[in-house]
Amino acid sequence: MKEYTYIMIKPDGVKAGLTEEIVRRIQNKGYEIKLFDVRKLDGDILDEHYAHVKDRDFYPEMKEFMLSDYVVPMIVYGENAIQGMRDLMGPTRSSEAPAGTIRGDFGNKEIVNQNVIHGSDSRETALIEIERFFNIKVNHGEEKDF
Ligand code: UDP
Ligand code: MG
Repeated sequence: MKEYTYIMIKPDGVKAGLTEEIVRRIQNKGYEIKLFDVRKLDGDILDEHYAHVKDRDFYPEMKEFMLSDYVVPMIVYGENAIQGMRDLMGPTRSSEAPAGTIRGDFGNKEIVNQNVIHGSDSRETALIEIERFFNIKVNHGEEKDF
């Protein structure tokens, strides 16, 4: 089934000029970018988005990094897009990410939070994240005009 997923290029990716390269990789994999934005986040939306790691010791540094510059939020759509995007991104730790993945090729091998890109981890969180960042309700498999 075609799925929606929430993808976000983090400030390190934007600053390094990787936006076009990442867009190309997403499209080459056959996914559509339905919406694309460039913006700065505020602390509240970030705390919500990262509620699952908010109490971890690395969070303050990560929060400062995520608020430090522009991010590129996207809605990506395609067959098996959630897992497919996770595969394209590589694992959380760039030091463990294989060459050919976005994190493996461009992530910071020492600083875990500077791993270039976010992607939703399940069908349920994808819909929640799309609504959180774009204020839009979508259903997987349902073509929609944006
Ligand atoms: N993170 C970190 N140190 C860790 C684990 C996670 O800085 O030990 C950051 C990293 O930026 C990661 C984000 O927290 O992308 C969210 O963690 P999650 O486990 O959801 O990883 P992801 O889904 O991004 O691979
Ligand atoms: Mg995650």
